This record gives sequence, C-alpha cells and structure tokens, in this order.
Amino acid sequence: MWSQKTPNIRKLMSQSIDHILKQTYGYDSFRPLQREIISASLDGQDVVAILPTGAGKSLCYQVPALARSGLTLVISPLIALMKDQVDALVANGVAATYLNSTLDRHEASHRMAGLDAGEYRLLYAAPERIFSTGFIDCLKRWKVQAVAVDEAHCVSEWGHDFRPEYRQLSQLRQALPDVPFIALTATATPRVKEDLVSQLDLRQPAHFLASFNRPNLSYTIIGKSKPVDQVYEYITARGQESGIVYLQSRKGTEQMANALQAEGIKALAYHAGLQIDERAKAQEAFLRDDVQVICATVAFGMGIDKPNVRYVIHADLPKNIESYYQETGRAGRDGLPSDCVLLFSKGDLMRNLRFLDEMEDPQAAKVAREQMNQMVGYAESLQCRRIDLLGYFGESWTEDNCGGCDICLNPVEEWDATLESKKFLSCLYRIKERSGFELGLNHAVEVITGSQSARVKKWHHHELSTHGIGKDYPRDVWKDIGTQLTGLGYAQNIDKGDYQVIGLSDLGMQFLKSKDQTILLKKRPQTEAEKKAEAEKRLAQSGAIICDEGLFEQLRARRKALADERNLPAYVILGDRSLRMAARLYPQTLDELAKIPGVGQQKLADYGQTVLDVISHWLAGNAKQEFTDELPASNKPAKRKNAGIGDTVAETLKLYQSGQTIDQIAATRGLKDTTIGTHIASGIENGLLEVDPRAFYTIEEEQKIIQAVAKHGDEKLRPIMDDCGAGMTYLKLKICLAVQRRSRKS
Ligand code: ADP
Ligand code: MG
Ligand code: ZN
Repeated sequence: MWSQKTPNIRKLMSQSIDHILKQTYGYDSFRPLQREIISASLDGQDVVAILPTGAGKSLCYQVPALARSGLTLVISPLIALMKDQVDALVANGVAATYLNSTLDRHEASHRMAGLDAGEYRLLYAAPERIFSTGFIDCLKRWKVQAVAVDEAHCVSEWGHDFRPEYRQLSQLRQALPDVPFIALTATATPRVKEDLVSQLDLRQPAHFLASFNRPNLSYTIIGKSKPVDQVYEYITARGQESGIVYLQSRKGTEQMANALQAEGIKALAYHAGLQIDERAKAQEAFLRDDVQVICATVAFGMGIDKPNVRYVIHADLPKNIESYYQETGRAGRDGLPSDCVLLFSKGDLMRNLRFLDEMEDPQAAKVAREQMNQMVGYAESLQCRRIDLLGYFGESWTEDNCGGCDICLNPVEEWDATLESKKFLSCLYRIKERSGFELGLNHAVEVITGSQSARVKKWHHHELSTHGIGKDYPRDVWKDIGTQLTGLGYAQNIDKGDYQVIGLSDLGMQFLKSKDQTILLKKRPQTEAEKKAEAEKRLAQSGAIICDEGLFEQLRARRKALADERNLPAYVILGDRSLRMAARLYPQTLDELAKIPGVGQQKLADYGQTVLDVISHWLAGNAKQEFTDELPASNKPAKRKNAGIGDTVAETLKLYQSGQTIDQIAATRGLKDTTIGTHIASGIENGLLEVDPRAFYTIEEEQKIIQAVAKHGDEKLRPIMDDCGAGMTYLKLKICLAVQRRSRKS
C-alpha cells in the first residue's frame, strides 16, 4: 500500500488548499461553499454543512485533512461506502485507510500498526467500531486532529436513515474535546439540523447551507401507460449509460429486471428481500459498470456514490417529495447533464391510498396521505418543476425558464379533448359490453378508426355504434389519446399475464355519465424525427461535453479494463468528465493531459501514458474532429442553459432604462413584479445596467444584508431574509446581492 511518511506531511502543510485541489484531485476551482467550509474547519471551528448530493461534500473534509498535519477520523455509516471512498483517495495518491468488520484480523492489525506509525492522513470507521473496547484510547494515541461525520442525518430520528449507533457519537466529542468536528449531510429539514447540533454536541458551529437546486438535472414527467415498454425505450435511447429504475415492490423490481434482461439489457433487481451478499454483489456490479441498470426499491440508496448515473427513472409513484428528491439526486453527481424521469399515473395514487386505508395508526396515515398529495401536486403541476421541488425545501425559484424541466423545455399546449375522450371511452365501454372482456389498445384504435380487419370482424366489433366514430384522426393520434387517458386514470391497463388490455376505469365511467366535465389533453408529441432534432439541440445547450464519441468509447473500454485489473469501479480510475475532455482536446503529452480536470498527479503517473497511447493509436486511424461549441465550465456542475441573458431580460432592461418603474414594467409585460426584479438584478450582475442602490435600499439595510451574507453565504435568499428581519423584501435583497456580485467581478 502506498503510504505517506512524515517529511511529505510537512511539505503538504505549507501548501495552500488550492494547490491541494489541483495537485491531488486535478480540479481547478472549488464548487460553491467548499472553500468557505474548508476554511472554517481549518480555523478550528465546528461546522455543519448541508449540501445536496453531488455538491462535493467529501472534499470539504478531505482537503482540510490534507492541509493540516496528522490524522483525520471520518465516521461513515456504510461499509461499502467506506471502501469506495478509500479506493478513490488512494487512486489520487492520498494515504487513507478504513477499519471495519470486513477485514480479517491480520489485515486489521496491519492497518493499526500503520496508524501507530502515523502513516495515514484519513481513517474511515463506522460508529460501532468507535465504541468497541479500547478504540477511543487508540484514537487518542493517534492524535486525531479532526473528526468528520458524513451522512450526519443518521443521528436524527427525524431523518430518513436513522442509525442508533450514531447516537453515541456525543461520547466521541467528550473523548476528543479539543478537536474540530465537521458534520455533513444532504438532508435539509430543520428538525434534522437541530438534532445534529445537539446530538453531536457541536460548539457554536458555523452553518453552511447550499442551494438545493441541482442545475445539471432535468426533471420530466411522463404519463404512465406501459411502464416496461416506456422504460425499455428510454434506456435503449441512452446507449450504454448507467441508470437506476425505482419501483415500489420487490416483485416489481424483479419483473422489470427480467423484462429488460430479456431484451438484452444488463439489468439486475435490488431489494431488501435479497440476501446481504446478493445485495452487495448487485451494488458492486453496478459500480463497476458490469451491470447497466439497477431496478430497485428504495432499499437501494444511500451509499450509491457512483458519479456517472445518467438517469433515475421512477416507474411508480414515490411516497413523498423528500424521498423523490433524494432518489433523483443519485443522478449526475459528476455534474454532467442527467435526467430524472417520473412515470405518473393516477392509478398508482389510488392503489397507494388503499394501502394507507389499511394502516393502523390514523395519525401516520394522515401524514402519509398529505405527503402523497403533495407528490401528486408536483406531478400534475403545470409550472416549472424546480418551483415545486425547491419550494418544498423553502427555497424560491424565480427564473422564468429553468431550461431543465419538461415544462420549461417544451411548454406543451393543451387542447380540449372532451369530445374525443368521450368517443374513445365509450368505445372501450362498448367493446366490453359486446364481448364481456377487454382487448388491447391497438384493437380499440382499430375499432374507433373503422377498421374492417379480421380481428375486428371476428368479435363483431364492426357492428358497434362506436365503430368508425374516430375516422377523422389517424391511428397514432388515437393511440396517444388512449395513453394519455390511461395516464390520467380514465382508462386502465389490466394485466392478463402475457399481455395487457385496456378498460374503462371508475373515473372514466363517471366522466361518461357527467355532462359538464371537460378533459384537457396535451398536444400530440412530435414525430420521432422532430424529437431527435429537439434532443440534439437540447444536448448542445445542456452543458454536456461534446466530444469525439468514437475515441470516448475507446477510452471508456480501456478504463474498464484498467478498473477490472485493479478490482476497482471504473470511475475511480478516471471520471466521465475527464474522459470526455480527453476525447475532445486530444492531449498528446503528459503536460497537456495534466490540464484536464480530474487528472491529479497520482492519476497522471498511474494512467497518463495509457490514455496517451489510446489517443495516439486512435489518431493513427482517425482524423481529429473540430469542436466549435463553447465548452461548459469544468469547475461547477454544467448548467442546462444558454449563458448570458435572454430576450425577456433584455426587454425588461430596455423598459427600465426608458424610465418605467418596476410596477409599470410588470403591468406592461403581464409579468410578476418579482420576475421583473430578477431581470433587473441579472442586468446589474452582468454589467448591463447601473442603478443607484439608494433607490432600492438604505445603508442600514445594506449593512444587515452584508452581515447575513457573511453568515449564510449568498446562495440562498431565505436565511438572509430571516436574519434581516422586518422591512426587508426579496427585491431589495436581490438588487443588493447583484450590486455586490458585480463589484466583485469588476
Ligand atoms: P456529495 O458527498 O456531496 O454527494 P461527492 O463528495 O461524492 O458529493 O462529490 C461528487 C462528485 O463531485 C465527485 O465525483 C467529486 O470528485 C466531484 N467534485 C467535488 N468537488 C469538485 C470540484 N471542486 N471540482 C470538480 N469536481 C468536484
Ligand atoms: Mg457524500
Ligand atoms: Zn423548469
């Protein structure tokens, strides 16, 4: 094992944290709040850091560990997670190790000896280990310099992953009274936060709370009709990319995995009913890209630190928004564009509600029902998905177009399909009435469009009153209407084992009887060609790294081979972002390669030559491609948006400069005044507009804002707002922040 002896430690101490970032991790700049968190911890303060998944929490305690001398203890709840983190650190040349129950006696004592000799900078351990006899004395002997508690929400009964062992961690604080603690989690609810501070006995900790917006994730909701087919189509359209499909039941995960396997996709089921070793195997196979898709219940979750999960599909309705957010959050940790897709059907809601009716505790059932309704509200909402999702965490989202959700990307028009829905649903009704059973969607479409096929005649369905009443639309329009009506719960798919039929639901029956109910359906989706063009356009704007796909595949294959030889997950060798950048810039020397993000010194030494060989071999037989699109920033998650300002902002700025007030502009443009305020703030921040701050806020107010920003950072408005007290408005706040950001830029 590679190890770091004392002289190097002294050398590291003198290095700045920026240097560590570049040298060890190969990154050029910190992500939001990382620098602030690292500095606070190095100042000796206790720290609470609440950052969404993928924000880069590990770096927040690893960099201080490397910047200070001695050993940092990391508490981590999952054994599998520990090994992955340590593997990733060692791949970056950091002397890290872990102690847990998976090690045999010999290996454990070997590592303990290394700890006694001061060979390590980071030690990962599970809480139960800490309280095994004699361990606290060891920690004292090893002169632990800092303690990081990862996944710190596990300490709280209010969190979704309570672990009783975490409760004992306050004893650790008593044993190490002078050592700074840092607690990190992605769970932002106030109850959990309070628990964290009190249970871990933190001392006047510095709080850092990042925005929960995940700019590289796109959110899409699709009407659920035939989930297996829908999931299959989605996956095949994504090539070899990895993804997770969440389902509600164990049986559901197995059916989905079997169906995908039957189509040649490497898929595996994962649920709590599997043996522990089967679960570990499935997780491992997924991390190593031996399996492309995991079909899982929510049991598959924390600890999935795989950075290149490109999509998370929910094929069943999640039980609440918090879980939905955490589950979708497993996509795109590496900051590259990734998709979160929810297949939604009212039928799922009805089923879940029936379960709730059987619950024994009425209070719990009430809470669950409420949460479920919020989830449905999200799914049915016609406003930007980010407004609902972030609103749930008390964050306000005020951009006009987030550029990363189905609503913003294709504002779908709706049309009044009351009459067509009546026709279609009556047709289902008549089929059942005549034959005594339901048939498939295609059959219903044949009947409604007046087909004289043998099948139609066989059942005498050409004699139905609804035969041919839909001749005026082509078949695929009717198919789409049928699918949407199923998604809305007016019709339902009924499983007949090998095949599915479509029938009228109670809701559909009610609609047929009612006189004044209308049904709005979405305009028919585009043709395949239009969809493809749209997807390409979106990709170009999405912050994806466009690169030589042929070379990328070669690099990916070599990475897999290297990973398998070393028994490591592929991403530990090099991340997708690094490979894509290499497949775009065609570096031909080690120096050029070192400039690529994610290639630190150790990786350069270990894999640099191999990467260069793959590239030169490729270039011997292929021409270089030219890339003219702008490259997304490498230091922060790619944002799915055109940079710069949009037309709508420009329009506001023009009116403002012509002397109109915010209220006037809002009235003229038919927009909310808060939206206009946001436009003006972005004009200021981008240097397109200068304003007199005194027209917006007083000097006292400015002082209050500055103080609050020092405390909370300027990512989230809500805590600043709360600190500033009465009289503060979002408008004042936004303008003031914009003025300050501008002055920092110039
Ligand atoms: P979290 O624990 O907050 O979910 P991780 O610590 O697992 O996130 O980091 C997610 C990914 O982001 C990792 O692949 C990590 O290497 C990468 N990352 C972290 N910080 C930076 C940075 N400053 N620049 C580029 N990538 C980063
Ligand atoms: Mg983490
Ligand atoms: Zn949106």
